[in-house]
Amino acid sequence: MNALISVSDKTGIVELARALHGAGLRLLSTGGTAKLLADNGLPVTEVADMTGFPEMLDGRVKTLHPKVHGGLLARRDLPAHMAALQEHGIATIDVLVVNLYPFEATVAKPGCTLEDAIENIDIGGPAMVRSAAKNWKDVAVLTDASQYAGVIAELQAGGVSTRTKFALAVAAFNRISNYDAAISDYLSSLQEDGSRGDFPAQFNGRFVKLQDLRYGENPHQQAAFYRDLEPLPGTLVTARQLQGKELSYNNIADADAAWECVRSFEVPACVIVKHANPCGVALGKDSAEAYAKAFQTDPTSAFGGIIALNREVDGAAAQAISKQFVEVLMAPAFTPEALEVFKAKANVRVLQIELPAGAPQRNAFDLKRVGSGLLVQSADNHALQLADLKVVTKKQPTAEELRDLQFAWNVAQYVKSNAIVFCKGGMTLGVGAGQMSRVDSARIASIKAANAGLSLAGSVVASDAFFPFRDGLDVVVDAGASCVVQPGGSMRDNEVIAAADERGVAMVFTGVRHFRH
Ligand code: 5GP
Repeated sequence: MNALISVSDKTGIVELARALHGAGLRLLSTGGTAKLLADNGLPVTEVADMTGFPEMLDGRVKTLHPKVHGGLLARRDLPAHMAALQEHGIATIDVLVVNLYPFEATVAKPGCTLEDAIENIDIGGPAMVRSAAKNWKDVAVLTDASQYAGVIAELQAGGVSTRTKFALAVAAFNRISNYDAAISDYLSSLQEDGSRGDFPAQFNGRFVKLQDLRYGENPHQQAAFYRDLEPLPGTLVTARQLQGKELSYNNIADADAAWECVRSFEVPACVIVKHANPCGVALGKDSAEAYAKAFQTDPTSAFGGIIALNREVDGAAAQAISKQFVEVLMAPAFTPEALEVFKAKANVRVLQIELPAGAPQRNAFDLKRVGSGLLVQSADNHALQLADLKVVTKKQPTAEELRDLQFAWNVAQYVKSNAIVFCKGGMTLGVGAGQMSRVDSARIASIKAANAGLSLAGSVVASDAFFPFRDGLDVVVDAGASCVVQPGGSMRDNEVIAAADERGVAMVFTGVRHFRH
């Protein structure tokens, strides 16, 4: 039995080779790997000696030889295949250990040149991995150091099982497919002059399954949850579930909406989401205060809500939250007292998500399926600066209104269009979401505030896109708003500005809009 070892990342390779040798396999290896094994006292045959052909062209050709690929691809159950090996003096290769030139790490380095990238495209490695994985019944193919320990254990117990060999082959093809996708993404996003563009000519989404879900948005739909191959820190997929029932498809969708909103605030904040829309968002001196304020916005909708906080949840916050029916609770940390409170509520799904310091990192691409197509855009991560704001009315916003309008504007970004959000004192007072008419969103937001017993007098209101006519503005001013923030840019801006002046309110243009569908 022969094992061929050719690795760029040499982590754990000496131990693995020692175990393979101990299990009676002959070791074959390429230049750098062979030297490392020999230096560690292992008997190793260079592939070049086995094939009688030297490594050439700066290592571009090392293992591309029938003695290698014949040994990997021959079916041991076919006498004709075995006779062919015999005739050409080829030995079977029964274990293949390969990891590839570090293409992804190379192109991730700032300043990587096209030449560097090209030289890091592995040719012989993927070819061997494909050969071995195709012939998986006869060859165990290891492509990642995390697989070594399990295979060593099975070898020492008598041999690698069929089940493991199949799993290794699947992992091998996954690796090759991701590797090729990384090459394709990199090359196809280059401009003619070698600089990088934003969108590759071919989009290769690469995702890894995290879990199967009981069902999808509705019980008759099947579903699973995937994460990016390289997830960003601080995102929902990095969550650790501390307790509670299994997450459902809708839980995950809503949890993401709540988490993305809450992590956009620097100060302590709480977001309560229902059906992908925030039904209460507030800032506070701590989690308990932020939650209490967020809950007040719309206690009716908050029932069965998804709650996200961007600060540790302590005993007091947990006590307050546990009084309502919660589907999912998310925070970067929980005190032992807080966890104790939820132990009595075994169904509540409690997720802990590490929140790195600094501005949240967002996916480069935002994807949306349409028919047989895919819409791809960069993330909506425009952060409003005070200097971007343009006061368009005679009345100027007060300092407090200015603070609230920034808060309201941030919340509106996370509300489905058409979005109208009334706020005051760092809390939402009424949220109008997902209506086909902006006037209706405005009406709904004010009705919701009234239902919750909240006064809109002197409130600030944010509109995610411009008011096309003065009617929407009249609705929010009638409801009590004294300051309006909106993108501006309508053909009838002048009509709307005149209306604001006539009604004696302040209005501020942001120059950007935040549609969300
Ligand atoms: P070593 O450090 O042993 O000299 O080289 C190991 C690396 O060479 C591995 O990453 C392996 O995938 C790669 N490799 C093996 N055979 C070939 C080949 O024929 N051509 C190229 N380009 N790379 C190879």
